[in-house]
Amino acid sequence: MSRRLIVAVDGPAAAGKGTLARALAEALALPYLDTGLLYRAVGRRMLDAGRDPALENAEAEARALRPADLARTDLRTPEVDRAASAVAAQHAVRAALLAFQRGFGHANGAVLDGRDIGTVIFPDAPVKLYVTASARSRAERRFRQMRGDQTIDPDAHEAAIARVEAELLARDAADSARASAPLKPADDAIEIDSDRLDARAVLLEALRIVQARIAETS
Ligand code: C5P
Repeated sequence: MSRRLIVAVDGPAAAGKGTLARALAEALALPYLDTGLLYRAVGRRMLDAGRDPALENAEAEARALRPADLARTDLRTPEVDRAASAVAAQHAVRAALLAFQRGFGHANGAVLDGRDIGTVIFPDAPVKLYVTASARSRAERRFRQMRGDQTIDPDAHEAAIARVEAELLARDAADSARASAPLKPADDAIEIDSDRLDARAVLLEALRIVQARIAETS
């Protein structure tokens, strides 16, 4: 497969971007970067320092980020979800993380997932995917991930899933409304609705799009 190919995978929270991007990277033999982890790690550092991610400047924490911060196992709690979204709205934080993301992609090509990969980080990426799904199915997906159990019957956990859905929608609203690199599809992104497709079908659809783009641009 083409070397140095950049595949941008954007979309709202829990739409299945990570699952798709990881599988695509493996299929295309490209490095993978979960860019959400960068914002999560900055948010985590703010919380650890006793600082309010919504009110205080997090640029210094973004500049101090180290690989060990990304390897932490406590980056996916609801508290860190909110902290990540808050620091991600700070322009200085986004600017501090930009060079790392571009350098990662330029080194050997990459599949990157996030909110602004196709709009800001790699606006010239030859392949841009925007993964969506209904709020309900995203909430069910996130609930199962949080419980570590893919077999959970959602109907038995109605209230808890409704709370997860409300949190996802609040985070999407904040991510879409911010001035700096808001969540939105790039003009040339191709949308994949993961509601109607299982993970394998989403991967096959994405691979079909990648092959078509490579054929068009080579
Ligand atoms: O993708 P994930 O849910 O882990 O991202 C956590 C938060 O980080 C998002 O809600 C968003 O505010 C922020 N983010 C971002 N830009 C990216 C990736 C994530 O603003 N490229």
